[in-house]
Amino acid sequence: MSFESLGLMPELLRAVADQGYTEPTPIQLQAIPPVLARHDMMGCAQTGTGKTAGFALPILQLLAPQQNASPSPARHPIRALILTPTRELAAQVEENVRAYSKYLTLRSTVVFGGVDINPQITALRSGVEVLVATPGRLLDHVQQNTVNLGRVEILVLDEADRMLDMGFMPDIKRILALLPAERQSLLFSATFSEEIKRLAGQMLRSPVSIEVARRNAPADLVTHRMYEIEADRKGLLLAHLIKSRNMHQVLVFVRTKRDANRLMRELLRDGVAATAIHSDRTQAERMQALEEFKNGTMNVMVATDIAARGLDIEQLPFVINYELPYAAEDYIHRIGRTGRAGSPGEAISLVCAEERRMLDDIERALKRKLERLPMPEIAGGGRPRSPRQSEERPGSSPRPARASVHTLPTPKPPAPIPSGGFDFNKPYEPTTTTGANADAVRVVPRSSIRRQTSALLGGLAAKKT
Ligand code: AMP
Repeated sequence: MSFESLGLMPELLRAVADQGYTEPTPIQLQAIPPVLARHDMMGCAQTGTGKTAGFALPILQLLAPQQNASPSPARHPIRALILTPTRELAAQVEENVRAYSKYLTLRSTVVFGGVDINPQITALRSGVEVLVATPGRLLDHVQQNTVNLGRVEILVLDEADRMLDMGFMPDIKRILALLPAERQSLLFSATFSEEIKRLAGQMLRSPVSIEVARRNAPADLVTHRMYEIEADRKGLLLAHLIKSRNMHQVLVFVRTKRDANRLMRELLRDGVAATAIHSDRTQAERMQALEEFKNGTMNVMVATDIAARGLDIEQLPFVINYELPYAAEDYIHRIGRTGRAGSPGEAISLVCAEERRMLDDIERALKRKLERLPMPEIAGGGRPRSPRQSEERPGSSPRPARASVHTLPTPKPPAPIPSGGFDFNKPYEPTTTTGANADAVRVVPRSSIRRQTSALLGGLAAKKT
């Protein structure tokens, strides 16, 4: 099945071809025809399945008949509103909308908190047809009278489960009350709790339901491995694994922001190019971390669960759980970042005695045991320490994180990963794999990373027409 056969207009087909997409993903096959037919939709799909194009392409086609090049803001009312839980996801979605609409004269912009509101106001004042927003900042604009939602025809709630987890329900209700009752609504969520179903019941009318992945299904291609290790030796083992296996792009999960900072500093001291992403870092720092991780300057990104949600990170060969999450569901979200697009991935957990109960929960949720690996010989193994201990080590003189970064050798090009022969740099190739893994596709042009970052750093101007 091709994009042509889905009935998309030539301008969109050209844009999709420019992105390097050769065939629609399963969610796109399911979503595009009903959205074009103006149905409401309840979509069960995770980020990474191509769902953004699944809703953005048909929305742009529905808006296209009224596109115009008039300089008058009145001729560019907000006609599609896309709500996302996180700033990063909002920027990514708008980046995609921009790419898909490059041959149309429709305008888009993105608004989210944590950055100066004034460039957003300027962009909104000049008129945009597609607005991507996080709920809180959108309500700030409502309060300041800098946005008019009275002409919205299509609403998308992206990652609705995350929005609810993050406490956005009251904001969503306020926003829904500001929209015209006569509209098309699409709701996407990776899980369907009772609360999501209630929300869907309130905002959708006779929705078409689509689903592309089993609920909370861990990718079958992921190998789940673990080391049993004392808490104070985890740092040592982590650095050893990264170096000895020449891991060039690893997402490492910890539970708290403090641990993320400590572990990043410890890795830097150990000569590993590491950065961290968590909610205490400024927006600029978070975006710098993400870009450096994506472009390979940093081999390791230490993340908390909240900060990692919704990030569009290309398929990763490795995810390491430095600490297990309290909720087994978070383990599944974490490892969902590897084993995508038919490529094998490896999830490695460092488990100490205190985490035994969490491990039991995870193994129950996965319905399988994590493979126990024997402890490797570690050079300098007599230097046990945890991030906590190392930071408080008397007499230590930690170098500032930034300064050490630039003296570190960056392995380029990356050496092959011994396990599974996964090649991170290989472009996405459609596979004939069926099931959940066949849905995950990733093609992120480098230019798009730069654009996302500039958008998040405040470059929020509406698309030039
Ligand atoms: P999403 O789930 O929307 O975040 O998309 C995941 C990634 O897949 C993004 O980097 C998209 O650019 C990419 N993508 C979306 N549709 C396709 C397609 N049909 N073929 C190849 N890559 C795609």
